Amino acid sequence: MVDSHCHLDSETFRSDLPAVLDRARSAGVERMICIGSGSDIRSALSSVALAGTESDVYATVGVHPHDVARMTESDWETLEGLARLPRVVGIGETGLDYHYEHSARDAQQAAFRRFVRLARQAGRPVVSHVRDAHADAAEILRAEGASEVGGVIHCFTGGVDDARGYLDFGHYLSFSGILTFKNADHIRAAARFAPADRVLVETDAPYLAPIPYRGQRNEPAFVARTLGLLAEIRGISVADADRITTENACRLFRLGDHPLVPADRTHSG
Ligand SMILES: [Zn+2]
Ligand SMILES: [Zn+2]
Repeated sequence: MVDSHCHLDSETFRSDLPAVLDRARSAGVERMICIGSGSDIRSALSSVALAGTESDVYATVGVHPHDVARMTESDWETLEGLARLPRVVGIGETGLDYHYEHSARDAQQAAFRRFVRLARQAGRPVVSHVRDAHADAAEILRAEGASEVGGVIHCFTGGVDDARGYLDFGHYLSFSGILTFKNADHIRAAARFAPADRVLVETDAPYLAPIPYRGQRNEPAFVARTLGLLAEIRGISVADADRITTENACRLFRLGDHPLVPADRTHSG
């Protein structure tokens, strides 16, 4: 399994990260994409550092849409430098969040456009967070040519029509523990509708733990719950759902092109 979206750099993992990684590995999680986009660029830096020491962890770099209003030019320069590092496999999470609107909409849109351009320059896919903003997000991704590098709408919470808007230009949809929530029928409908070669699974740990862990700290090992439900919804075996979502994540993030062993462990003499 691949946990295509987790925040291992989060403060909540500081004291027991090795145990969290061990539980993920024992549960069959072979690769984790650590999303380096907390409230400032320290998250990108620590995610890149983690990907440099753990052979099954890869990093993305960005700043969450909640916090883009505070970004400086020097933050952008730092991210541009990080974007091309060998273990950095994506740009984000970026996107639009009109639900919380912690940063003004126009600031979110401007930063989202700029992140898509950065992704194209760096040749990395875009990881987007979209909440109550599907029409605007699809429009920006399309206008900025995101299809050139590809991308994923993480923790997809839209319905079939929203899904279609992204699938039309080749984007992937990633499903989280929300898929297990009672009031998520429209999301389950989208998970059934999306083509097999466009679906991913994620935890978004430490947030959004799936049932029966709801309310607890989430961790990559729990991605198995979401995978199990995705299999059930699509009427396929868990093994097939695992194979499909793993292949999709490897294709989208081009994990085959990135060294499996961090650069600092590759020297042999
Ligand atoms: Zn998000
Ligand atoms: Zn996230």
